[in-house]
Amino acid sequence: MNIKIQHFTLSLFMLMSLSAVLLWSVSLYLMNDSLVKEKTGLYRNNWQIQLDQLQSDQGAWLQKRFHEVSEWMQENTDSQQRQYFVNQYYQLYPKLTLIKIIESGAVVPDMGKKIPDCLDLSGKQSESEIVSDSPLVKTCFSNSQPMLAVTADIDSSNNQKLLLLMDYFSFINDFEKLTNRQFYVETGSKLSRNFIETRVHEQQFQTVFEFKQDALTVGRLTLSVPHESFFSVWLQQAIWVIPVWLFVALVFYLALFRALIHPLLLVSQRMKKMVQTRRPGNAYDRQFLTPGLLLLHKYFINLTYMTKHDHLTGLNNRAIFEERLQLAIMEGKRSGRKYALVLVDINHFYKINKKYGLYVGDGLLKQLAKRLSNDLRESDSLARLEKDNFALLLEFSDDDQITSLVEKLHQSLSKTYTVYGREINIGISIGVAIYPDNAWEKDELELKGNEALLKAHQGDWPVVFIQQPDSQTDYSGLSLIQSLRWALKNSDFKLVYQPVMDLKSHTTSYFEALLRWKRPEEHVQSIEKTIALAEKNQLIKPLSHWIIETACLQLQKLKDSPVKIAINLSMIDFHDEGLPQRIGEMLQRYGIAPGQLMIEITEGQFMQEPDLVIGILNRLSEMGISLSIDDFGTGQASLTYLKKLPVEKLKIDQSFVKNMVEDNEDSTIVEATIKLAHTLSIEVVAEGVESADIHIMLRQMGCDYVQGYYISRPLEQKLIASWIEDKS
Ligand code: C2E
Ligand code: MG
Ligand code: MG
Repeated sequence: MNIKIQHFTLSLFMLMSLSAVLLWSVSLYLMNDSLVKEKTGLYRNNWQIQLDQLQSDQGAWLQKRFHEVSEWMQENTDSQQRQYFVNQYYQLYPKLTLIKIIESGAVVPDMGKKIPDCLDLSGKQSESEIVSDSPLVKTCFSNSQPMLAVTADIDSSNNQKLLLLMDYFSFINDFEKLTNRQFYVETGSKLSRNFIETRVHEQQFQTVFEFKQDALTVGRLTLSVPHESFFSVWLQQAIWVIPVWLFVALVFYLALFRALIHPLLLVSQRMKKMVQTRRPGNAYDRQFLTPGLLLLHKYFINLTYMTKHDHLTGLNNRAIFEERLQLAIMEGKRSGRKYALVLVDINHFYKINKKYGLYVGDGLLKQLAKRLSNDLRESDSLARLEKDNFALLLEFSDDDQITSLVEKLHQSLSKTYTVYGREINIGISIGVAIYPDNAWEKDELELKGNEALLKAHQGDWPVVFIQQPDSQTDYSGLSLIQSLRWALKNSDFKLVYQPVMDLKSHTTSYFEALLRWKRPEEHVQSIEKTIALAEKNQLIKPLSHWIIETACLQLQKLKDSPVKIAINLSMIDFHDEGLPQRIGEMLQRYGIAPGQLMIEITEGQFMQEPDLVIGILNRLSEMGISLSIDDFGTGQASLTYLKKLPVEKLKIDQSFVKNMVEDNEDSTIVEATIKLAHTLSIEVVAEGVESADIHIMLRQMGCDYVQGYYISRPLEQKLIASWIEDKS
């Protein structure tokens, strides 16, 4: 499932917001009870304060009225005037129930009510009650109705007292207006102005104020806080909590989107593009590489892979290779191990790209990478450094081993490639630098490797090892291969010709062409070892080709005195089905009769793959080319094969011939071989004839031909003509 980053984060925020609202709701639910209690307490305190305030306002108001009336009364003693004033005043303040001047006889207005019995008007007032500035406000009952009363002496000499009464209900009315609650009055009791608060039915959030006169409850005010359900409380708070929270969350999300998600998104998209373009063939990746949070780590894995690998071939890249090289050198310094840095390059790779297109070029690189990695050991490292440039790091102990390894590698890489149905042949250049012989440090080793690669590109042979003049290492095998390549290219070889004498006619039957270096002093290795090395390093085919061509050329030069030349071929030459055809073409090109050419193959080599050889030998024989089994006696050829083969001659190995005069066993073997060959109608050549005794003995044994130093050492090509002239 693919989730886009923006969708994911938005959903996450929504989820978080919802969770926060849910959490808040749960905590509100749990706190609701104590909240309501707190609210009720607040209400109660509030009411108490209001009540106190109202009462004191009422008292103050009454006192003020009292002062006004008493002042006027003292100034105007006339009862009619007083009556008129009180009437007017009463009209002005309807709250006043009664204004009365006692002892003056004036009752204004009477309203038919009895004088309140709450005051002992005739009796003496206590001192505290006679306070002219602020007369004491009392509560009393008039006709069982609670009243507020203020009374004081106006004129003590006349015993005149002023009484102001106010209906207590006017206070209650005010309070009821204020609180919107009903006030219940317990009738028949005396009312005290003071009240005591008692709380009852707390669960219902009610508060009851009780007004008491002495021990009697005269009025009860029940105030209750409306009970709110959780939902209504939630709704009240949610109206502002949710929008504020959503707003904060949105601002936070936008800030986060700008600072983190958006850049993350861009990175993700870029990574996706990179992964897709760098690994275009991977349908699996393409399917899943959509920018998404869950897949972001996949991009990272891909990118990590890409930072270490070459996207085309999947091999390690330069960074990793250099790291390995550094580690190898460190290991080499510690343990004394040797490493070869092998740089491989395709010659003129751009031409392939140009000719076949980049797609084919890429395919070729992939195949080359595959061939390179085919024979790698676990300890070896391989990387593609750039374009067609590959590098190998090989651990080795034996110099010959690394030489033949690199040669084999070159052979394998040089074979024809089939890329998308096209056959492509390429030239490969290889440069090799050895740690520690060529360099002690990584950078220097790389420099040397590149130097070798450059030489391989520019020079005559495609595999170049950096030569260290004062190196302790003996690279004899290595230089031999290099020289061999060079010699092949530059005809630094030559053929010498050793005559083979007919023992019956005493004439030269043919010459055996033997390979020689033109400058033998520069090559310590024997020609046999050189040929073995060429066989091991796939160089024998071009070498044999050169030998055949040179021999044909020689025969062409000797057209006037036609001779026969025997050439030695290697078993590997017979792996090539096209050998007869190539020889046929060569003979035709130089105008040589097939009968003038003889091919020698050693018995030992022939016996390795007799069935393979028989077919080709038959074809050669059919062409008229004669065949000889060389070094006979060393390879245990079976008679069955000898019978099957179109062999003309058997050449007894010189190891039997050399000592046959002294060694009876050898002479017996030689004699038996001659007889056996003659039985099969095969002629016998004895090689390694070094003395007259051997020569005589062989003739007595009925041997057909002899070859050896006794007759002649191998001759330079220019001496053949005179030899023929002398010995024919
Ligand atoms: P081979 O084909 O049996 O050649 C005969 C070798 O014996 C030659 O050595 C020759 O110089 C040497 N020889 C000839 N007569 C005498 C003698 O009287 N006494 C002694 N001690 N040696 C004698 P060479 O040229 O060093 O060749 C050694 C081997 O190398 C050859 O043995 C042949 O197997 C191989 N070889 C030489 N030239 C070629 C070549 O052109 N192609 C191939 N494939 N192999 C060659
Ligand atoms: Mg030979
Ligand atoms: Mg031989």
